Amino acid sequence: MSNTVVTVIQAPIEVDYTCPYCGENITQCFDDFLSDQGLSWSDLSDWKYIDITCPECGKKIDDVSYEFD
Ligand SMILES: [Zn+2]
Repeated sequence: MSNTVVTVIQAPIEVDYTCPYCGENITQCFDDFLSDQGLSWSDLSDWKYIDITCPECGKKIDDVSYEFD
């Protein structure tokens, strides 16, 4: 008998959001999102403080909240 639990680690693949300024729906793969936003993995420990810049209109988007699927 074994009570081994296998934990499946999920990694983010894509992000999807709508810019409040230009209304553009942005879908990007996660690596592109990081490089567009000048972020690296180590910045992501505290998601709620991460503001982003819309790649379409270049405006800074504050008060971003993150949802994980
Ligand atoms: Zn925009």
